[in-house]
Amino acid sequence: MSLTQRDSQMIWHPFTQEKTADLPIVIKEGKGSYLFDDKGKKYVDLISSWWVNLHGHGHPVICDAIYSQAKKLEHVIFAGFTHEPAVLLCEKLRTSVPSSLTKFFFSDNGSTAVEVALKMAHQYWRHKGEAQRTVYLGFDGGYHGDTFGAMAVGKKSHFHDPFHKLLCDSIFLPFPSTWKNDEHIVQKEERALDALAHILQEKGNMLSAFICEPLVQGAGGMRMCRPEFLARVVRMIKDHGILVIYDEVMTGFGRLGTYFATEQVGVAPDFLCIAKGLTGGFLPLALTVTTQDIYDAFLDDAWEKAFAHGHSYTANPIACSAALASYELLQRQETHTAIHNIHVSHERGLRMLHEECGHMVRGLRCTGTIAAWEVNAEHTPPAYFKKEFLRRGLLLRPLGNTIYILPPYAVTTEDLDDAYSIIADVMKGAR
Ligand SMILES: *Cc1c(COP(=O)(O)O)cnc(C)c1O
Repeated sequence: MSLTQRDSQMIWHPFTQEKTADLPIVIKEGKGSYLFDDKGKKYVDLISSWWVNLHGHGHPVICDAIYSQAKKLEHVIFAGFTHEPAVLLCEKLRTSVPSSLTKFFFSDNGSTAVEVALKMAHQYWRHKGEAQRTVYLGFDGGYHGDTFGAMAVGKKSHFHDPFHKLLCDSIFLPFPSTWKNDEHIVQKEERALDALAHILQEKGNMLSAFICEPLVQGAGGMRMCRPEFLARVVRMIKDHGILVIYDEVMTGFGRLGTYFATEQVGVAPDFLCIAKGLTGGFLPLALTVTTQDIYDAFLDDAWEKAFAHGHSYTANPIACSAALASYELLQRQETHTAIHNIHVSHERGLRMLHEECGHMVRGLRCTGTIAAWEVNAEHTPPAYFKKEFLRRGLLLRPLGNTIYILPPYAVTTEDLDDAYSIIADVMKGAR
């Protein structure tokens, strides 16, 4: 029996309609920006394996860090114990997050990082005597993960419609997504700000926290907004004393050109959630970083005021060592150059698409290392594109009719240029 047959007898894959899905591709090896299947076919990984990979597959610096840590200490309970990789990692990250964020809470994936922030915000208000603040505020189209709290603040992403009855209260703002030559952006932003002013006036004292993906909504369709707009939103929310959560699970670690998108917004949040790229895409690890003020609100002689939350693999030492190695790689000049070069290639590729596929594409946009656009092909099912890209050696995963490229920093300019030509070719063949 083939491996795919053995797989399909047992395994239930994520985000997959098992009835209609094609058999999974067996990947044998990853190297740099390439993946190789069991038939030796090469794919350029243009989605960084679901947005986690930074420096390429199998990077030797991270491999070595993992191996040497595994030999020393693979794991230890993190309540009542600590270890050097965790402490060192937080010391390093502290210099890359806003100076007001000084307290680090570990978990192991993006959803849990968000869940921790939502729970901390909720409990914070109880401790402050404002227990009526139970409602969260988010953006239309925001996505924050698949656990219950994360689903509640991502309701308008429509990934979780079957669960709506079970979710806690949240309210949503219009998200003024924008693109090149967008003539209506100012009106869209003003409408969103008016909606916010109205919500703050009507329900301001019920709101616990506002959560957003700064500058780029990932799963919602790589929708981008202007930093000035988000800064205004966050300032208005902070003026009402409401807590702010930045979910940088996808946007962190250079993805948008700066270490964190937070830098481009210019206003610090009360919570920063990071995961995906934290270990360079090698191991699951996440952090919720917060302020001294939030931390202090949980200090008490009574245990009941503690934050009663933790996961078995909290601050796993091997994952922390991978994150330290990835941190070191991100500091290198060559990484900064690679990030810049990807942006330049995207701009060139988008210009080419605009010129060659004019009527087929709209909403061309790019922030840092992410480029996206919508394809006008009413008569072609989105699944066609994914399949055709794979056939031609590109791992891409369109979100509906949105095609996006989010490559590992190891990708070469040549591979990116080739990818754009292949994509243009495939789009020209669609209707
Ligand atoms: C992927 C993602 C999450 C969820 O992370 P998981 O590790 O998949 O649980 C949360 N927020 C954002 C912005 C994401 O892109």
